[in-house]
Amino acid sequence: MKTFRQGLYLAEKKELSEAKKIKRISPPPRVILPLSQHTGAPGRPLVKVGDRVEEGQKIADADSFISSPIHASISGKVSSIEKMPHPVGGEGEAIIIEGDGNGKKVWEKGKGNPKSLAAEEIRKIIREAGIVGLGGAAFPTHVKLSPPENKPIDTIVLNGCECEPYLTGDHRLMLERPDDCLYGLRVIIETVHATRGYVGIENNKPDAIALMREKLKDNENIQVVPLKTKYPQGGEKMLIKAILNREVPLGGLPLDVGVVVNNVGTALAIAEAIKWGKPLLERVVTITGSGVSQPANLLIPLGTPFSYVVEECGGLRENASKVIMGGPMMGLSQYTLDVPVVKGTSGILVLTESEVVFREEEPCVKCARCIDHCPMGLLPTILARLVKAERWDSLKDYQVMDCIECGCCAYVCPSRIPLVHLMKLGKFQVSKRPT
Ligand code: SF4
Ligand code: SF4
Repeated sequence: MKTFRQGLYLAEKKELSEAKKIKRISPPPRVILPLSQHTGAPGRPLVKVGDRVEEGQKIADADSFISSPIHASISGKVSSIEKMPHPVGGEGEAIIIEGDGNGKKVWEKGKGNPKSLAAEEIRKIIREAGIVGLGGAAFPTHVKLSPPENKPIDTIVLNGCECEPYLTGDHRLMLERPDDCLYGLRVIIETVHATRGYVGIENNKPDAIALMREKLKDNENIQVVPLKTKYPQGGEKMLIKAILNREVPLGGLPLDVGVVVNNVGTALAIAEAIKWGKPLLERVVTITGSGVSQPANLLIPLGTPFSYVVEECGGLRENASKVIMGGPMMGLSQYTLDVPVVKGTSGILVLTESEVVFREEEPCVKCARCIDHCPMGLLPTILARLVKAERWDSLKDYQVMDCIECGCCAYVCPSRIPLVHLMKLGKFQVSKRPT
């Protein structure tokens, strides 16, 4: 079975939600839409307090190339534009819409046949639809599909790994919307003039592997590749190594080895934008963990508060202790349920008291476990020491910027050193310094 070096075998915990079909959540009475839900420049509001907005109307945008517009996810009235808690930390400016209770809009006005659309037109449709990477990174997709001329792309990898424990939304999408996921993949292949595509799926999803193979049985240039279930198999660099045996150089990007990787949810959003003219205004989120009453996979309008989502799933259990946006390895702990679902919200995970370890950090015992498991081949123990000593220049030499924040090092560290936190701090400091 194909895979990458190092990484971790984790308890998968998918059984809580993997059989739960995707259901549309009942419409929330209000949504909170942060102006920054993507990597890059935050949007500027295009509406003001008191304006009436239609579902799908563009309500924020920026001139910067690396940015993405925001659309109203329900119809209603803009009640305020103010700072609100943001699920990636702190507060951020957000547009708040009070819903008018009108039903869902029917999206059916397509943008034409992708075969007859120029690559530039497709990129424009993707940009205007506000599509970003839905695997969690939220990098604007039109930017990813605009490689420089000196870096031709020959291969597209569709990422169906969903290697984070607990999360099952991508698995459900592959089972319930396989044709749309593959439609999106074909559009991506055409847009960057690649010659072939692969669908990488971990072998803990045999039903998705079988269905995708069936759908692709007459297709010569797209192949399904089952991969070993190992964390973080869904990391771009790990996928490329496993499927193509190409190594993305340190400091480099997938396009340096002729590859673009997109998540299945992103491919589906591209299909909806082209087939129906629908912008990104909702996404599938896995609500799971022993701390929530009824785990589910829900299709949720962006901006819906976590509190509303959790209530739709029967509420929190009494012993609920920690709420995480995303999975347990790369997800972010939340201090309030007032935060909204944003474009990068793949899951809402609620853990109970017995599942959360609170322990003080102890000194490094130089066991090298963090080094043995780092999928990027970094030296986390040394990087952590350099961060603590504020030696930012040395950190750069030790390739801190290549850390993918996967959490493998912190997971295996017997001294409970907050290694990912230290890596993030180191990356932040290095990125601030002149190159
Ligand atoms: S978080 Fe960074 S340093 Fe730690 S294992 Fe992952 S890539 Fe390596
Ligand atoms: S795993 Fe923890 S204790 Fe072991 S070398 Fe790495 S930082 Fe030190």
